Parts: sequence; C-alpha cells; structure tokens
Amino acid sequence: MTEFNKEADIVIVGFGGAGSAAAIAAADGGASVLLIDKAPPHAVGGNTRVASQGYLNPSDPKEAATYLNALCGPFEVPQAMVEVWAEENCKNNEWLASIGGDPQEHQPPPAGVEYPDLPGAECVHKYHHGDILGYSKTWEFLEESVKSRDNIQILYETPATELIQLPDGAIGGVLAQHNGQTIRIKAKKAVILTCGGFENNQDMIRNYLPGVPFCYTSGSPYNEGDGIRMAMQAGADLWHMNNYAGPSIAFKAPEYPTTFSIIPLHFSHEPPGGMIVVGSDGKRFINEKYKHKHGKIPMGDQWAPMPVRTPMYMIFDQTLLDAGPLYDSKPNRGWTPIMIGYDWSQDNRKEIERGWIKQAANAQTMAAKLSIDEKTLAKSIDTWNRSALAGHDAEFGRTKSLHPIAEGSLYAMELVPSMLNTQGGPRRNERAEVLRPDGRPINRLYSAGEMGSIFGYLYQGTGNIGECFAFGRIAAHEALSKSPW
Ligand SMILES: Cc1cc2nc3c(=O)[nH]c(=O)nc-3n(C[C@H](O)[C@H](O)[C@H](O)COP(=O)(O)OP(=O)(O)OC[C@H]3O[C@@H](n4cnc5c(N)ncnc54)[C@H](O)[C@@H]3O)c2cc1C
Repeated sequence: MTEFNKEADIVIVGFGGAGSAAAIAAADGGASVLLIDKAPPHAVGGNTRVASQGYLNPSDPKEAATYLNALCGPFEVPQAMVEVWAEENCKNNEWLASIGGDPQEHQPPPAGVEYPDLPGAECVHKYHHGDILGYSKTWEFLEESVKSRDNIQILYETPATELIQLPDGAIGGVLAQHNGQTIRIKAKKAVILTCGGFENNQDMIRNYLPGVPFCYTSGSPYNEGDGIRMAMQAGADLWHMNNYAGPSIAFKAPEYPTTFSIIPLHFSHEPPGGMIVVGSDGKRFINEKYKHKHGKIPMGDQWAPMPVRTPMYMIFDQTLLDAGPLYDSKPNRGWTPIMIGYDWSQDNRKEIERGWIKQAANAQTMAAKLSIDEKTLAKSIDTWNRSALAGHDAEFGRTKSLHPIAEGSLYAMELVPSMLNTQGGPRRNERAEVLRPDGRPINRLYSAGEMGSIFGYLYQGTGNIGECFAFGRIAAHEALSKSPW
C-alpha cells in the first residue's frame, strides 16, 4: 500500500462542536487524534462557532425519548437510536463540567421549549457555557479544551476529499488537500466525520431541500456537503436529507457568502413604518412576521417548511427607512455579524448606494425597477394599507407591525430563503456507526453532529449542539474500542 504522510489512532474530519466533543473524548481515552479542518485557524468552528451557543440537556431520559418520538412524528427513527440519544443528551452537563466547563441554564428556565404541547416537552432544559449566552462562548471553551490536549494534533486549511477504503471495505484513513498537495492520512482505529451539512452546496440544496431552488446560510460558509459526498462514495445510506433549520427570509449581498438578518422581519421587533414582502408576481404570500419554528409552520395536523418565493422583495416606506439600520448587526450569533462584521450605515444610505436597497418615487416606478406587474404591486400595497388601518390582516392574519405603507418614496430589498443548517447526511446508528443501505455498518467509519442528524422532522432548539456532544462522545468511545490495523 502507498505510504502515508500522517497517521493517528483516530482521524476526525471537521473541527466544530461534534469534532471537538469527539476529539476530547478520544484524547481523554488515550488515543492519538488528528483533527483536520478545511478552514483557517480563525474560521474553524463551523456553525458551532457562530451559533447561539445553547445545547440541550434534558432533565429525564424517559421523558426525552418520549419528546423525541413526538418530534419525529410519522418520520420515526429506530428506538435504540432514540434511547441512546435521550440517555446521552442527559449527560451533556456532566460531561462539560468534567472537562472544566461551566454549564449555565438559559434564563428563565425552562426557556425555549419549542413544542410545549408535545408529550415529554417538560424535560427540555437548555444550557450554555459561562455567564453570557451567545458571543461564541461555548465554542471558545471547546476550542481551548481541544488545543490544550497534547495528544490532539490539528491541521488547518486541510479539506478532506476522500475516504481511503481498504480491500475489506473498512475505512483506513482519508485523503486531504494540504498546502496544495494531496496528503494520505492513516487512521489506525477509525475515521469520525464531523464536517457539517450542505448549507453552501446549491446543487444539493436543489436536489434535497423541499421547495427552494436555492438557499443561503447564516452559518459557516465552509460546510459544503463534503462529508456526505465522501460517505456516499464509501457506500453510505443517507437520511433526513429533506430536513433543515429553515427557511427564514433574509438578505444576501452578492459580495458576502452568508445572509444578513433584517430587523423589520423579526417577529419581536416592531419599528415604525409600513412593510410587506411580495413575490415576483407582486403579491404577498405570507404573514411576514410569522413566528415559525426553525422554518416550520403548521399545515393542518402536520408541519411543513414555511413557503417562500424566489425572488421575493420587501417593499417599505420612508418612515421605515428612516427608523434606523435595517440589518441586525449584533455579534451574538451568525456568521455575518461575528465573522464578517459588516458595518451597515445608520441611515441605510450606504446600502442604497451599493444597490442593496432600491429606491423609487412610487409603486409604479418600483414595479418597473423590479420587473413586476405595476397594477398587482399597487393593489397589494393598497390591500395591505386597508388591513393595517382596519387593524386586521384578512389575507394572512399578521398582527405585528400593522403600519400602512405611506405614499411617497418607496424602497425595496430583494430577499432570499435562509437557513441555519441542514440536518441530513449519512445514516448512523446508536453506536454512531455510518450505515450502508442494507443496514450494515461501514467498518471504522463514524459520524456525529448535523451531518446526518437524528432530527428528520421537527426540531427542538439547542438539539443540534446537544447531539454534537452526545454523538461526538459515542463515536469516540466506539472508535477507541477498535484494534489498530
Ligand atoms: C446562527 C445559528 C445559530 C444556531 N444556534 C444554535 C444553538 O444555539 N444551539 C444548537 O444546538 N444549534 C444551533 N445552531 C445549529 C448548530 O450550530 C449546528 O447544527 C451545529 O453547531 C453543527 O455542529 P457540527 O460540529 O456538526 O458542524 P460545524 O460546527 O458546522 O463544524 C463543521 C466543521 O467542518 C469543517 N469542514 C467542512 N468541510 C470539511 C472538509 N471537507 N474537510 C475538513 N473540514 C471540513 C468546517 O470548516 C467546520 O469547521 C445554530 C446555527 C446557526 C447558523
């Protein structure tokens, strides 16, 4: 066999939350660990770095299993998986504290129970590391914990490209790009894939996500579905590919890879001034201030992704433009505020000059600028204004920001479907083994995190990082038990 450039007992692909948990558990179990990431040192951490920093630690495993089954609804997952998920998530605080972390519950508890009416929901408790929620605090603790362990070596700017499959089908290592060269890395015990979802792979988005021909992320631009492709090449089955934490509606500047969250569209913010969102047919299609649940809205007795249009436009008046910056730049979460730090002007004028916000004298000229039918746009504005004045949105039941769009200058921003993260990826079992379509594991290949998450239907906030911790540890323990090849 060709020589290897590097080797370790356990090779972990992706230095985010799941990769950190796996690396720490594997190193603490005595293994030599090689952790590789596509991003440069200042930008590793993936979605975990820019997340709101919460992780789930349910109060009771039985209740947690009941709640997860209810979240899965008709999209069941094997009970062995549910039970292990529940038991292991209940140990997240204990684990974090055991490595020097400071688990603090979101206030006031129980905060953010996403589906309080589902059975088992009372078990939901959300935590973060340290005193402040957000601002990359949980991530910074994980990163430091990884870096402080001598038996973990980290290679940055080293995207994995392919799994090395041995003649018996087992995984013996990975190929990666490093300093412009292909390097061969031997994994003596196992490879653990923790390299996130396909948030930035528009081809996969078109193929797998329901209802969106394209979508952008507020998370890491480095997650491009590489691990999913590598696992497929090695014979993995996939699951949960059509589920994602989205869509929401956001702004995407052509100059930047990730989305900007827009203040007037927040459920809880009510700046003065009139605003509606229309599709390219000039018609409203949704309650613009709907408080969806990670992109899901009720449809009869089921839940479905919120409908969006591509393209869609926020149409608004001078009062809203003058009310302050339209972009929520608070660096508590999201790749754009934390990593890009774009300085949006207080009066939105710079963004008009950049062409991000379009200005027109009236609905007629705005319709011409956006290539939408002028009569339909005028009618949508007129209908909205009547609803706002009557205090009742007969079309879509919006109850927030019931302000009419004033006559005079009109403004428009083109908006896009946005998401936090995808949930799909290689199917895994309760031992974090990656499975083939026939249900057999691919020997020496494990996965954790959002790349093949357990969430196939409804999602409970903080569930993703909770799962990163739980299955990162499980993958590490299973990998440790392998004999070196
Ligand atoms: C704004 C925002 C807020 C969120 N808030 C929360 C929250 O509070 N709680 C919660 O549970 N979830 C939250 N989520 C979701 C959560 O952040 C993610 O699902 C979770 O962090 C994923 O962790 P991971 O380790 O699986 O992947 P990531 O953290 O995304 O890490 C993947 C890593 O793999 C690397 N990588 C990609 N391709 C390769 C390759 N080919 N080779 C090597 N490395 C590669 C990436 O650079 C990255 O460092 C949020 C997401 C966003 C965007």
